[in-house]
Amino acid sequence: MRRPKYSKWEKARDKHEFVEPRQITEIEDRVGATPQRRLQWALDFAKRDLNSLTVGDWANLRREVVAFDGWVIPHDQVKSKRVLKQLRDDTRRVPTWPPGQVPLPTEEEVRQIQEALRIVVETLLRDGEASIGINASFVILRDPRGQRVYFSRVPRAPSWGGLTLANLLGAFAHLVRECRDETCRAWFVASRANKWYCRTRCQSRATTRKFRRSKVGPRKPGNWAPKRRQ
Ligand SMILES: [Zn+2]
Repeated sequence: MRRPKYSKWEKARDKHEFVEPRQITEIEDRVGATPQRRLQWALDFAKRDLNSLTVGDWANLRREVVAFDGWVIPHDQVKSKRVLKQLRDDTRRVPTWPPGQVPLPTEEEVRQIQEALRIVVETLLRDGEASIGINASFVILRDPRGQRVYFSRVPRAPSWGGLTLANLLGAFAHLVRECRDETCRAWFVASRANKWYCRTRCQSRATTRKFRRSKVGPRKPGNWAPKRRQ
């Protein structure tokens, strides 16, 4: 039987390193076990200094990007906290091409993905809106004997993970914040609407600073010391 030509994919296949799907499902928890934690993983990744990564860090990160991409939480279910345990296996399918193999993004692609992600979050925080383009292909292979079909989604940089990101932001964008502590400025997913600091430590540091500044402001008579003028 003549093997069908999938020439469109040959170039992409040459470029990538492949791993077993098991290598991705094993590390799924590292990119967050709930939708909010998964979004937090994306925010941390967006701010991460890629130039400081070791060889081992790179190997982990390339797999984490695939895990983030592969676990697409349906838009209408993303707000449920229980959803991740209930997801069926076909929703959690890791994109594979060729069948049974998972392409890892290259280091260069990871940098492109990070840049795209950072721009989305920055734009969202600044303008209150952002758009996410999805650049992926759905691969459908038809068995010539009419017995089987193979179906997968193959993402491409820079929008690797874009579908997951769009669904997560669609549910939680109002809770994505930049920490108001001026020495921190971390991005985080707030657990409630009136939370503006990423940690209690940042909140108390900012409160202390505000308090000190207010003391420096209008002076009380007891503290008064005339300024020397020249
Ligand atoms: Zn903070």
